[in-house]
Amino acid sequence: MHPGEVRIYTCGPTVYDFAHIGNFRTFVFQDVLRRFLRARGLRVMQVMNLTDVDDRIIQNAAAAGVSIREYTEKFVEAFLADMDSLHLERPEEIVRATDHIEDMVTLIERLQKKGMTYTSDGSIYFRIATFPEYGKLSKIDLGGMKAGARVDTDRYEKDDARDFALWKAPKPGEHFWETRIGPGRPGWHIECSAMSMKYLGDTLDIHTGGVDLAFPHHENEIAQSEGATGHKFVRLWLHAEHLIIDGEKMSKSLGNFFTLRDLFAKGRKPSTIRYMLLSVPYRRQLNFTADGLTQAENSVERLRNFYARLKSEKFGDGSNPEIGKRAAQAEADFDAGLADDLNTALALAAVFDLVRDVNTAMDRGEFLQQDAPRVVAAMEKFDTILVLLNDDDAERLGALGFGPAKPRMGAAEVEALIEERNAAKKRRDFKRSDEIRQQLTDSGIIVEDTKDGTVRWKYK
Ligand code: AMP
Ligand code: ZN
Repeated sequence: MHPGEVRIYTCGPTVYDFAHIGNFRTFVFQDVLRRFLRARGLRVMQVMNLTDVDDRIIQNAAAAGVSIREYTEKFVEAFLADMDSLHLERPEEIVRATDHIEDMVTLIERLQKKGMTYTSDGSIYFRIATFPEYGKLSKIDLGGMKAGARVDTDRYEKDDARDFALWKAPKPGEHFWETRIGPGRPGWHIECSAMSMKYLGDTLDIHTGGVDLAFPHHENEIAQSEGATGHKFVRLWLHAEHLIIDGEKMSKSLGNFFTLRDLFAKGRKPSTIRYMLLSVPYRRQLNFTADGLTQAENSVERLRNFYARLKSEKFGDGSNPEIGKRAAQAEADFDAGLADDLNTALALAAVFDLVRDVNTAMDRGEFLQQDAPRVVAAMEKFDTILVLLNDDDAERLGALGFGPAKPRMGAAEVEALIEERNAAKKRRDFKRSDEIRQQLTDSGIIVEDTKDGTVRWKYK
């Protein structure tokens, strides 16, 4: 819509818990998208929302006896830290639903004025029958839709289009906002229409999300936005297929999920997970397995070893023009792969073909010292999108509190500390004896004072 610039809206996480790697599949795809657009010389203006109000958040916050902001804050922080660990660039704007209640109220008022809504028990619904194009994105069949059938929750049955809540009347004991359209809180869909148009204009270039959002969430966004403005809402929808595990979609509600932190705690590295998530093109389902992770780890190692070899090995003097040509070909293939609807599998094949061919040339003495900078440049170009070459996994893990494992305290050291503690007790220096006990506990040693005055200990 704007020369030289691409405006993207991304449905962000619902911050009621840690995001899982299925969610991150979609966020990694979006990172590849924005990095590729920039590599093509375009400016990117991406807005991502944080859904920080929904049924579950309200319930969980009430159960914990804290405000919505307090409850969601730690998951917002965790999400941003998780993004950093995978080298996901921050969108230009990250916006919270609860900071945009006024914008949502204004949008609902516009729809009210156009007669596209009705009120029932204090809640305001979008009347789908007033938007004949409803269903055009997901091609949903509205044949089975009952006139006036409504849905009130933030979770939806698949394949069942119904009038949806724009604004929900407060339930007893629940948090609500006092507004011009009455007390209550926004439905889930209205936040994305209100925030995307506020920051990006009535018509967006690209709107992204996982495929589960196409219906009803994005269908409802279209109805709200186009209903209010009369303009096309989104020119290009990009939906990532799901990450699946044991044949099922990874999801919170099925309980079959891993967070990034679960995998880090098992010794997996951030670069491994980034590679695994980006290696399958977003239009294809990604089957998550432990073997897949191990292969991803090996692939990253291969890239890093090759890069190190380029930079440190000494080759014969001169240059081989074939190598320069080969690097240029790889760059063209990489770009063409991504230009083909972000086919990351093709793009990675171009990289690994180059690695193989150059390794072979090196082994045969056909790679010369002055060829190195050209191939380094190609690898670094790929890496503006892949972001895998720099071995910073330990640092990334450290930032999330996954330090290198401490070596276990040796038995001799344990015995010595216990003896010192006994001596401290004897001279009634309880401060010191408590300190030593704490030190042992912190080191994973369980100390037991037995009745007969002896001390037993074991590893936790
Ligand atoms: P949520 O926090 O549930 O609102 O989801 C955040 C993003 O993750 C949305 O774009 C979802 O479509 C996406 N998502 C959820 N589960 C998966 C999955 N198993 N694979 C890929 N994307 C997913
Ligand atoms: Zn959304």
